[in-house]
Amino acid sequence: MPAEGSGVAALIAATPELDWITDPALVRQKSRDFFWYSPVLKRQLNRVTGEAVVQPRDEAEVRAVLAAAFAAGVPVTARGAGTGNYGQAMPLHGGVVLDLSRLDQVLWCKPGIVRAQAGIKLIDLDAQTRQQVGGELRFHPSTKRTATLGGFIAGGSSGIGATTWGTLREAGNILGLRVLTCEAEPRVLELRGAEISKANHAYGTNGIITEVEMPLAPAWDWVDLAVSFPTLREAARFADSFTRLDGVVKKLACVVAAPIPQQHFRSLGHRVPEGHSVALLMVAEPFLDALPPLVAAHGGREILRVPTEQAEVPLYEHSWNHTTLQVLKTDKSVTYLQSLFPAPHHLDKVAQLEAAFGDEVPHHLEFVRLGGEVCAFGLSLIRFSTEQRLAEIMAAYEAAGCPVFDPHAFTLEAGGMKRVDGAQLAFKRENDPKGLLNPGKMAAWDDPDWKPDRPQSMHLFETAEPAPAEVLE
Ligand code: FAD
Repeated sequence: MPAEGSGVAALIAATPELDWITDPALVRQKSRDFFWYSPVLKRQLNRVTGEAVVQPRDEAEVRAVLAAAFAAGVPVTARGAGTGNYGQAMPLHGGVVLDLSRLDQVLWCKPGIVRAQAGIKLIDLDAQTRQQVGGELRFHPSTKRTATLGGFIAGGSSGIGATTWGTLREAGNILGLRVLTCEAEPRVLELRGAEISKANHAYGTNGIITEVEMPLAPAWDWVDLAVSFPTLREAARFADSFTRLDGVVKKLACVVAAPIPQQHFRSLGHRVPEGHSVALLMVAEPFLDALPPLVAAHGGREILRVPTEQAEVPLYEHSWNHTTLQVLKTDKSVTYLQSLFPAPHHLDKVAQLEAAFGDEVPHHLEFVRLGGEVCAFGLSLIRFSTEQRLAEIMAAYEAAGCPVFDPHAFTLEAGGMKRVDGAQLAFKRENDPKGLLNPGKMAAWDDPDWKPDRPQSMHLFETAEPAPAEVLE
């Protein structure tokens, strides 16, 4: 129970009609996300917990929580499914965890577009749009089976489908966001166009997303395909060429270096020849016949072909951040890095860093289309020794021209994905004047002179300076 006389106790007393959880064990459980992915965050955040969890049933109840929290001066940290792996949803300053998972309805959908409440699970969203209009999200995180739509927008970046559609930062990949402010009388904003970047990947620090409008791609029957190659270089060249096959409808082009698949992929490892690296693909069923010539030309060997729906563990749960999870299941000492191997020299840079670090940093690459170019995100695994060594590896990546998005940092800025500029700060000031939304995650809010302690050559999410958002109510 929150301490008597505390702000949270006052907040609960002021809103008895809301569904509150105060049991400390449950509150702690619902305060945690996948921060423990990082040994650094594990050390820093392990004791963090909220004081109470509230589960609104509709937007009116979200508004009631925000108004009462503003009056009581209590921090509010939004939560979808808590699968973020940089501690995005960890309530650093305690207060209330705002669980949005009951806002789970599709509001409408038509060919090519869906609008849904933010707490809907991605897997439920895809099932409904597939059934209603033959469409599905353009891309989804590898946590599709558990994560929510709002959590993906506020805390994620990209995923399965990026071979064609890029990331959440690309204009057009999010069509609209309905956002509530944290004020005495919370306002409702509808963000569209360039405005969307303000709340996209902002960890819920500048508003609570209640509805999301997304474009849809045609929903195909997907097939998982794994191809093995004697070397990482061959696997990477193949995945690069595959991503450029513009006539082939595809969703995934993931490369994992030996010996990771053999040692850690329980359902697949036994199929991978000793010493081989693998390319993990998702292809729409009608296009499978286009692949054998490309596989042969790169010296590959097909080792798995199964409809995604029938896979024991779908290949997408071996890709993106799931690759690290598969490894962590059998080796808790491993961690990872997030980086970009920018076009057009991405393959050379992979080879350069492979030569520099060898088996200390086994490569895991996701080939994507970014800004119209094919390139690769690196989610390299790291055989962790010390935090200092981790920093050295990140510095070496940056020095090689590969921007690092540090998954061992919990602020928007230190993580390096989002640049918090004047527009972001002004937006937060307007929407969250008391700084109650997910406090501690926007470094520039707490310290306007904040500077990164390592050079950051690129941010994935930059904010445009558009006109003020339209206020609906
Ligand atoms: P949460 O973790 O609950 O929240 C994420 C952030 O958004 C938090 O800051 C939270 O405060 C905020 N938030 C949640 N809901 C709202 C809302 N309605 N309004 C405002 N703020 C809100 N990410 C990817 O991008 N691609 C991947 O492929 C991917 N794979 C992953 C694999 C594994 C194994 C793990 C552990 C993580 C992975 N992630 C990936 C990260 C994460 O799973 C996704 O970003 C996911 O979409 C987050 O959704 P969630 O509902 O769990 O959000």
